[in-house]
Amino acid sequence: MDDKLMLMIPGPTPVPEQVLSAMAKHPIGHRSGDFGKIVAEVTQNLKWLHQTQNDVLILAASGTGAMEAGIINFLSPGDRVLVGTNGKFGERWAEVTDAYGLQTERLSVDWGKPLDPEAFRQRLESDTDKQIKAVIVTHSETSTGVINDLKTISSYVKAHGALMMADTVTSLGATSVPVDEWSLDVVASGSQKGYMIPPGLGFVAVSAKAWEAYKTAKLPRYYLDLGKYRKSSAKDTTPFTPAINLFYAMQAALRMMKAEGLENIFARHERLRQAARAAVKALNMPLYAADECGSPAITAVMPNGVDAEQIRSVMRKRFDIALAGGQDHLKGKIFRIGHLGFVSDRDLLTAIAALEATLQ
Ligand code: PLP
Repeated sequence: MDDKLMLMIPGPTPVPEQVLSAMAKHPIGHRSGDFGKIVAEVTQNLKWLHQTQNDVLILAASGTGAMEAGIINFLSPGDRVLVGTNGKFGERWAEVTDAYGLQTERLSVDWGKPLDPEAFRQRLESDTDKQIKAVIVTHSETSTGVINDLKTISSYVKAHGALMMADTVTSLGATSVPVDEWSLDVVASGSQKGYMIPPGLGFVAVSAKAWEAYKTAKLPRYYLDLGKYRKSSAKDTTPFTPAINLFYAMQAALRMMKAEGLENIFARHERLRQAARAAVKALNMPLYAADECGSPAITAVMPNGVDAEQIRSVMRKRFDIALAGGQDHLKGKIFRIGHLGFVSDRDLLTAIAALEATLQ
Protein backbone atom coordinates (compact mmCIF):
# COMPACT_ATOMS: atom_id res chain seq x y z
CA MET A 1 0.00 0.00 0.00
CA ASP A 2 1.84 3.01 -1.26
CA ASP A 3 0.12 5.51 1.02
CA LYS A 4 1.71 3.73 3.98
CA LEU A 5 5.17 3.49 2.45
CA MET A 6 7.84 4.36 4.99
CA LEU A 7 10.87 5.95 3.40
CA MET A 8 14.07 4.86 5.08
CA ILE A 9 16.26 5.94 2.17
CA PRO A 10 18.78 8.79 2.10
CA GLY A 11 16.51 11.03 0.06
CA PRO A 12 13.91 11.88 -0.78
CA THR A 13 13.10 11.75 2.91
CA PRO A 14 9.69 11.80 4.63
CA VAL A 15 7.88 15.14 4.63
CA PRO A 16 5.97 16.24 7.78
CA GLU A 17 2.21 16.85 7.48
CA GLN A 18 2.76 20.48 8.48
CA VAL A 19 5.06 20.95 5.52
CA LEU A 20 2.75 19.13 3.11
CA SER A 21 -0.21 21.26 4.11
CA ALA A 22 1.85 24.44 3.87
CA MET A 23 2.46 23.57 0.21
CA ALA A 24 -1.18 22.89 -0.57
CA LYS A 25 -1.99 26.49 -1.51
CA HIS A 26 -2.27 28.54 -4.67
CA PRO A 27 1.04 30.09 -5.67
CA ILE A 28 1.30 33.83 -5.14
CA GLY A 29 3.11 36.28 -7.43
CA HIS A 30 6.83 36.05 -6.88
CA ARG A 31 7.27 39.82 -7.21
CA SER A 32 4.72 40.52 -4.48
CA GLY A 33 5.53 41.91 -1.05
CA ASP A 34 4.06 38.79 0.55
CA PHE A 35 6.44 36.53 -1.32
CA GLY A 36 9.31 38.88 -0.44
CA LYS A 37 8.59 38.33 3.24
CA ILE A 38 8.83 34.56 2.75
CA VAL A 39 12.16 34.90 0.90
CA ALA A 40 13.51 37.09 3.70
CA GLU A 41 12.46 34.68 6.46
CA VAL A 42 13.64 31.57 4.66
CA THR A 43 17.00 33.14 3.79
CA GLN A 44 17.54 34.21 7.39
CA ASN A 45 16.71 30.75 8.68
CA LEU A 46 18.95 29.10 6.10
CA LYS A 47 21.85 31.17 7.45
CA TRP A 48 20.95 29.91 10.92
CA LEU A 49 21.02 26.30 9.69
CA HIS A 50 24.37 26.85 7.95
CA GLN A 51 25.71 28.74 11.01
CA THR A 52 26.93 31.48 8.72
CA GLN A 53 26.83 35.16 7.85
CA ASN A 54 27.60 34.28 4.21
CA ASP A 55 25.01 34.55 1.45
CA VAL A 56 22.83 31.47 1.13
CA LEU A 57 21.18 31.37 -2.29
CA ILE A 58 18.17 29.34 -3.30
CA LEU A 59 17.89 27.73 -6.75
CA ALA A 60 15.16 25.77 -8.47
CA ALA A 61 17.49 22.81 -8.94
CA SER A 62 18.50 19.54 -7.32
CA GLY A 63 21.67 19.13 -5.25
CA THR A 64 23.72 18.46 -8.36
CA GLY A 65 22.55 21.78 -9.81
CA ALA A 66 23.71 23.55 -6.65
CA MET A 67 27.16 22.00 -6.88
CA GLU A 68 27.43 22.69 -10.61
CA ALA A 69 26.59 26.31 -9.79
CA GLY A 70 29.45 26.28 -7.27
CA ILE A 71 31.90 25.14 -9.89
CA ILE A 72 30.92 27.38 -12.80
CA ASN A 73 30.75 30.60 -10.78
CA PHE A 74 34.15 30.57 -9.16
CA LEU A 75 36.52 28.81 -11.57
CA SER A 76 37.92 29.26 -15.08
CA PRO A 77 38.67 26.78 -17.88
CA GLY A 78 41.90 24.89 -17.20
CA ASP A 79 41.92 25.57 -13.45
CA ARG A 80 43.26 22.71 -11.36
CA VAL A 81 40.91 21.31 -8.73
CA LEU A 82 41.53 18.65 -6.13
CA VAL A 83 38.52 16.39 -5.67
CA GLY A 84 38.23 13.91 -2.82
CA THR A 85 36.65 10.70 -4.10
CA ASN A 86 35.58 7.78 -1.93
CA GLY A 87 32.18 7.03 -3.39
CA LYS A 88 29.68 7.82 -6.11
CA PHE A 89 29.09 11.44 -5.17
CA GLY A 90 32.76 12.38 -4.91
CA GLU A 91 33.07 10.82 -8.38
CA ARG A 92 30.12 12.87 -9.60
CA TRP A 93 31.87 16.14 -8.76
CA ALA A 94 34.93 14.95 -10.65
CA GLU A 95 32.62 14.28 -13.61
CA VAL A 96 31.25 17.82 -13.38
CA THR A 97 34.70 19.41 -13.22
CA ASP A 98 35.82 17.23 -16.15
CA ALA A 99 32.75 18.29 -18.12
CA TYR A 100 33.75 21.95 -17.71
CA GLY A 101 37.33 21.40 -18.87
CA LEU A 102 38.99 21.84 -15.49
CA GLN A 103 42.14 19.90 -14.63
CA THR A 104 40.66 17.42 -12.21
CA GLU A 105 43.03 15.80 -9.76
CA ARG A 106 41.44 13.05 -7.69
CA LEU A 107 42.56 12.22 -4.18
CA SER A 108 40.93 8.83 -3.78
CA VAL A 109 40.57 6.14 -1.21
CA ASP A 110 38.57 2.93 -1.45
CA TRP A 111 34.80 3.16 -1.17
CA GLY A 112 33.77 2.62 2.45
CA LYS A 113 36.88 4.36 3.83
CA PRO A 114 37.06 8.03 4.83
CA LEU A 115 39.18 10.51 2.87
CA ASP A 116 42.63 10.94 4.39
CA PRO A 117 43.09 14.57 5.57
CA GLU A 118 46.86 14.02 5.75
CA ALA A 119 46.94 13.31 1.99
CA PHE A 120 45.22 16.66 1.42
CA ARG A 121 47.72 18.43 3.68
CA GLN A 122 50.69 16.94 1.86
CA ARG A 123 49.32 17.63 -1.62
CA LEU A 124 48.42 21.22 -0.74
CA GLU A 125 51.80 21.87 0.88
CA SER A 126 53.54 20.57 -2.24
CA ASP A 127 51.56 23.03 -4.39
CA THR A 128 53.94 25.91 -3.77
CA ASP A 129 53.01 27.80 -6.93
CA LYS A 130 49.32 27.64 -6.01
CA GLN A 131 48.04 25.81 -9.07
CA ILE A 132 45.18 24.27 -7.11
CA LYS A 133 42.29 26.71 -7.19
CA ALA A 134 39.69 24.68 -5.32
CA VAL A 135 39.32 21.58 -3.19
CA ILE A 136 36.03 19.71 -3.35
CA VAL A 137 34.89 17.29 -0.67
CA THR A 138 31.67 15.38 -0.14
CA HIS A 139 30.97 15.68 3.59
CA SER A 140 28.58 12.73 3.97
CA GLU A 141 29.22 10.22 1.15
CA THR A 142 25.72 8.87 0.67
CA SER A 143 26.74 5.90 -1.48
CA THR A 144 28.79 4.33 1.32
CA GLY A 145 27.50 5.91 4.54
CA VAL A 146 30.89 7.48 5.31
CA ILE A 147 31.33 10.93 6.85
CA ASN A 148 34.53 12.67 5.80
CA ASP A 149 36.57 14.92 8.08
CA LEU A 150 35.65 18.14 6.33
CA LYS A 151 36.73 20.32 9.26
CA THR A 152 40.36 19.12 9.18
CA ILE A 153 40.60 19.12 5.38
CA SER A 154 39.19 22.63 5.30
CA SER A 155 41.82 23.87 7.78
CA TYR A 156 44.55 22.74 5.32
CA VAL A 157 42.74 24.34 2.41
CA LYS A 158 42.51 27.62 4.31
CA ALA A 159 46.28 27.55 4.99
CA HIS A 160 46.89 26.97 1.27
CA GLY A 161 44.48 29.65 0.03
CA ALA A 162 42.36 27.61 -2.42
CA LEU A 163 38.59 27.68 -2.27
CA MET A 164 36.99 25.02 -0.09
CA MET A 165 33.89 23.61 -1.77
CA ALA A 166 31.75 21.15 0.10
CA ASP A 167 28.86 18.91 -0.80
CA THR A 168 26.73 18.83 2.34
CA VAL A 169 23.72 17.26 0.63
CA THR A 170 23.26 14.55 3.28
CA SER A 171 25.06 16.22 6.20
CA LEU A 172 23.33 19.58 6.51
CA GLY A 173 20.44 19.22 8.90
CA ALA A 174 21.82 15.92 10.23
CA THR A 175 25.08 17.08 11.78
CA SER A 176 26.75 20.38 12.53
CA VAL A 177 28.14 22.16 9.45
CA PRO A 178 29.45 25.43 10.93
CA VAL A 179 30.22 27.13 7.64
CA ASP A 180 31.96 30.20 9.11
CA GLU A 181 33.91 28.38 11.79
CA TRP A 182 35.19 25.81 9.26
CA SER A 183 35.85 28.46 6.57
CA LEU A 184 33.79 26.74 3.90
CA ASP A 185 33.66 28.91 0.79
CA VAL A 186 31.03 27.15 -1.31
CA VAL A 187 28.52 24.81 0.30
CA ALA A 188 25.93 22.95 -1.76
CA SER A 189 22.86 21.08 -0.58
CA GLY A 190 19.38 20.06 -1.75
CA SER A 191 15.89 20.14 -0.31
CA GLN A 192 14.93 16.45 -0.29
CA LYS A 193 17.30 15.43 2.50
CA GLY A 194 17.78 16.92 5.98
CA TYR A 195 15.53 19.85 5.09
CA MET A 196 12.42 17.61 5.22
CA ILE A 197 10.86 19.02 2.06
CA PRO A 198 10.31 17.47 -1.36
CA PRO A 199 12.98 17.62 -4.10
CA GLY A 200 13.31 20.74 -6.21
CA LEU A 201 15.38 23.32 -4.34
CA GLY A 202 19.16 23.60 -4.32
CA PHE A 203 21.08 25.80 -1.88
CA VAL A 204 24.51 27.35 -2.20
CA ALA A 205 26.28 29.21 0.61
CA VAL A 206 28.97 31.55 -0.73
CA SER A 207 31.78 33.23 1.24
CA ALA A 208 33.35 36.65 0.62
CA LYS A 209 36.49 34.86 -0.64
CA ALA A 210 34.40 32.97 -3.21
CA TRP A 211 32.76 36.22 -4.35
CA GLU A 212 36.26 37.62 -4.94
CA ALA A 213 36.99 34.63 -7.19
CA TYR A 214 33.65 35.19 -8.95
CA LYS A 215 34.93 38.53 -10.28
CA THR A 216 37.55 36.83 -12.47
CA ALA A 217 35.98 33.39 -13.02
CA LYS A 218 35.40 32.72 -16.71
CA LEU A 219 33.32 29.58 -17.12
CA PRO A 220 30.10 30.25 -19.03
CA ARG A 221 26.91 30.58 -16.99
CA TYR A 222 23.47 32.02 -17.29
CA TYR A 223 20.61 30.41 -15.32
CA LEU A 224 23.06 29.35 -12.63
CA ASP A 225 24.89 32.69 -12.47
CA LEU A 226 24.99 33.14 -8.70
CA GLY A 227 25.67 36.88 -9.03
CA LYS A 228 22.09 37.23 -10.28
CA TYR A 229 20.76 35.31 -7.26
CA ARG A 230 22.84 37.42 -4.90
CA LYS A 231 21.52 40.68 -6.34
CA SER A 232 17.94 39.46 -6.14
CA SER A 233 18.37 38.00 -2.68
CA ALA A 234 19.43 41.43 -1.40
CA LYS A 235 15.97 42.62 -2.51
CA ASP A 236 14.17 39.57 -1.06
CA THR A 237 13.40 38.13 -4.45
CA THR A 238 14.77 35.66 -7.00
CA PRO A 239 16.07 36.34 -10.53
CA PHE A 240 13.73 33.82 -12.20
CA THR A 241 10.33 32.37 -11.33
CA PRO A 242 11.04 30.38 -8.16
CA ALA A 243 9.48 27.08 -7.04
CA ILE A 244 6.94 29.07 -5.02
CA ASN A 245 5.18 26.18 -3.29
CA LEU A 246 8.51 24.74 -2.23
CA PHE A 247 9.22 28.07 -0.56
CA TYR A 248 6.04 27.58 1.48
CA ALA A 249 7.37 24.16 2.40
CA MET A 250 10.77 25.55 3.26
CA GLN A 251 9.26 28.22 5.47
CA ALA A 252 7.29 25.60 7.44
CA ALA A 253 10.19 23.12 7.64
CA LEU A 254 12.68 25.72 8.86
CA ARG A 255 10.23 26.87 11.51
CA MET A 256 9.97 23.25 12.69
CA MET A 257 13.75 22.96 12.75
CA LYS A 258 14.09 26.17 14.74
CA ALA A 259 11.54 24.91 17.25
CA GLU A 260 13.51 21.66 17.64
CA GLY A 261 16.82 23.53 17.89
CA LEU A 262 20.13 22.74 16.20
CA GLU A 263 21.60 20.82 19.12
CA ASN A 264 18.51 18.62 19.44
CA ILE A 265 18.44 17.94 15.70
CA PHE A 266 22.08 16.84 15.75
CA ALA A 267 21.58 14.77 18.93
CA ARG A 268 18.59 12.99 17.34
CA HIS A 269 20.63 12.06 14.28
CA GLU A 270 23.53 10.89 16.42
CA ARG A 271 21.12 8.72 18.40
CA LEU A 272 19.70 7.28 15.17
CA ARG A 273 23.21 6.61 13.88
CA GLN A 274 24.20 4.77 17.03
CA ALA A 275 20.95 2.82 17.23
CA ALA A 276 21.15 1.74 13.58
CA ARG A 277 24.73 0.57 13.99
CA ALA A 278 24.04 -1.27 17.24
CA ALA A 279 21.02 -3.02 15.73
CA VAL A 280 22.90 -4.11 12.61
CA LYS A 281 25.69 -5.53 14.76
CA ALA A 282 23.16 -7.35 16.92
CA LEU A 283 21.74 -8.90 13.74
CA ASN A 284 25.24 -10.15 12.93
CA MET A 285 25.63 -8.18 9.75
CA PRO A 286 28.83 -6.26 8.98
CA LEU A 287 28.65 -2.49 8.64
CA TYR A 288 30.18 -1.09 5.46
CA ALA A 289 31.76 1.93 7.21
CA ALA A 290 33.72 1.78 10.47
CA ASP A 291 32.19 3.28 13.63
CA GLU A 292 34.57 6.28 13.57
CA CYS A 293 33.40 7.39 10.14
CA GLY A 294 29.77 6.21 10.04
CA SER A 295 27.48 8.91 8.69
CA PRO A 296 24.75 10.31 10.97
CA ALA A 297 22.39 10.17 7.99
CA ILE A 298 22.94 6.75 6.39
CA THR A 299 23.99 3.32 7.57
CA ALA A 300 25.28 0.94 4.90
CA VAL A 301 25.03 -2.77 5.65
CA MET A 302 26.66 -5.82 4.05
CA PRO A 303 24.27 -8.70 4.57
CA ASN A 304 26.48 -11.78 5.01
CA GLY A 305 25.95 -13.99 1.99
CA VAL A 306 22.40 -12.76 1.40
CA ASP A 307 21.46 -10.74 -1.66
CA ALA A 308 20.86 -7.18 -0.45
CA GLU A 309 18.25 -6.69 -3.18
CA GLN A 310 16.31 -9.66 -1.84
CA ILE A 311 16.21 -8.09 1.62
CA ARG A 312 15.04 -4.79 0.17
CA SER A 313 12.35 -6.51 -1.81
CA VAL A 314 10.94 -8.35 1.23
CA MET A 315 11.09 -5.18 3.36
CA ARG A 316 9.17 -3.34 0.65
CA LYS A 317 6.55 -6.02 -0.02
CA ARG A 318 5.91 -7.32 3.48
CA PHE A 319 6.41 -4.18 5.54
CA ASP A 320 6.02 -1.20 3.18
CA ILE A 321 9.48 -0.01 4.16
CA ALA A 322 11.79 1.31 1.46
CA LEU A 323 15.52 0.85 1.99
CA ALA A 324 18.14 2.01 -0.52
CA GLY A 325 20.29 -0.39 -2.48
CA GLY A 326 23.98 -0.30 -3.28
CA GLN A 327 25.13 1.89 -6.17
CA ASP A 328 27.41 0.89 -9.05
CA HIS A 329 29.65 -2.03 -8.03
CA LEU A 330 27.92 -2.24 -4.64
CA LYS A 331 24.55 -3.20 -6.16
CA GLY A 332 23.32 -6.37 -4.45
CA LYS A 333 26.24 -6.23 -2.00
CA ILE A 334 24.96 -3.61 0.42
CA PHE A 335 21.72 -1.97 1.41
CA ARG A 336 21.47 1.44 3.00
CA ILE A 337 19.20 2.61 5.79
CA GLY A 338 18.49 6.32 5.53
CA HIS A 339 17.82 8.05 8.84
CA LEU A 340 17.88 11.74 8.11
CA GLY A 341 15.38 14.54 8.21
CA PHE A 342 11.92 13.78 9.55
CA VAL A 343 12.84 10.44 11.13
CA SER A 344 12.14 9.53 14.75
CA ASP A 345 13.42 6.86 17.12
CA ARG A 346 10.15 5.00 16.54
CA ASP A 347 10.66 4.97 12.76
CA LEU A 348 14.07 3.43 13.15
CA LEU A 349 12.87 0.86 15.68
CA THR A 350 10.08 -0.14 13.29
CA ALA A 351 12.55 -0.56 10.43
CA ILE A 352 14.91 -2.61 12.57
CA ALA A 353 12.12 -4.89 13.83
CA ALA A 354 11.00 -5.45 10.25
CA LEU A 355 14.57 -6.16 9.21
CA GLU A 356 14.92 -8.75 11.94
CA ALA A 357 11.71 -10.45 10.79
CA THR A 358 12.91 -10.30 7.17
CA LEU A 359 16.10 -12.12 8.05
CA GLN A 360 14.32 -14.97 9.85
N1 PLP B 1 25.64 14.62 -3.23
C1 PLP B 1 25.24 13.72 -2.33
C2 PLP B 1 26.12 13.42 -1.18
C3 PLP B 1 24.00 13.08 -2.50
O1 PLP B 1 23.58 12.20 -1.59
C4 PLP B 1 23.20 13.39 -3.62
C5 PLP B 1 21.92 12.72 -3.83
O2 PLP B 1 21.61 11.70 -3.25
C6 PLP B 1 23.68 14.34 -4.51
C7 PLP B 1 24.89 14.93 -4.28
C8 PLP B 1 22.92 14.68 -5.72
O3 PLP B 1 21.79 15.37 -5.39
P1 PLP B 1 20.56 15.44 -6.42
O4 PLP B 1 20.14 14.03 -6.69
O5 PLP B 1 19.58 16.22 -5.61
O6 PLP B 1 21.04 16.14 -7.61
